[in-house]
Amino acid sequence: MFSENHKKSGCIEVVCGSMFSGKTEELIRRLKRAQFAGQKIAIFKPAVDNRYSDVEVVSHDFHKISSTPIKDPSEMLNTGPDVQVVGVDEAQFFDDTLVEVCQTLANRGVRVIVAGLDTDFLGAPFGPMPQLMAVAEDVQKVHAICVKCGNLANHSHRLSKSEDLVLLGEKNVYEPLCRECYNAARAREEQEKHSLRLFDDQ
Ligand SMILES: [Zn+2]
Repeated sequence: MFSENHKKSGCIEVVCGSMFSGKTEELIRRLKRAQFAGQKIAIFKPAVDNRYSDVEVVSHDFHKISSTPIKDPSEMLNTGPDVQVVGVDEAQFFDDTLVEVCQTLANRGVRVIVAGLDTDFLGAPFGPMPQLMAVAEDVQKVHAICVKCGNLANHSHRLSKSEDLVLLGEKNVYEPLCRECYNAARAREEQEKHSLRLFDDQ
């Protein structure tokens, strides 16, 4: 599946996981291998994500690769016919039209590699990721390490109280947790909210 010998056959690959799971690093690794194989690549990310740089996909350990920030997934359809591999980072921030665009590119013979968060901070499937995972030829879930117990982490636990779905990830905003530690943290927060409410009522 990860062979660079995709001269004609298009496909969709999804790399997903929690914050700090290394999904952008995995996306960059696959794109660099394609480049080494002499293939022309194009990389896109949502224009909302300008944490470090507007023109580069930047991963947390600063491996980086040039990308084009776009507002609408349909802009990806303007890539030249010579482009064999298209990478998409932070795909969870795009709307559902991303799925159709990736399908169109794959049907044209392009290898499409999509990286993104599988779930949001409440543990719900994030944006177009579940649909992409359904139609993809290959899905890889990558994992961070739970900061509480050292197990594999599947959840991005938000340390801030903000309810905004788009709150970009820095180390002091999110922590990776396993299922058990995430559930315990959420239960504690609910209890805190509840006791605050009781306090307010007095
Ligand atoms: Zn844990």
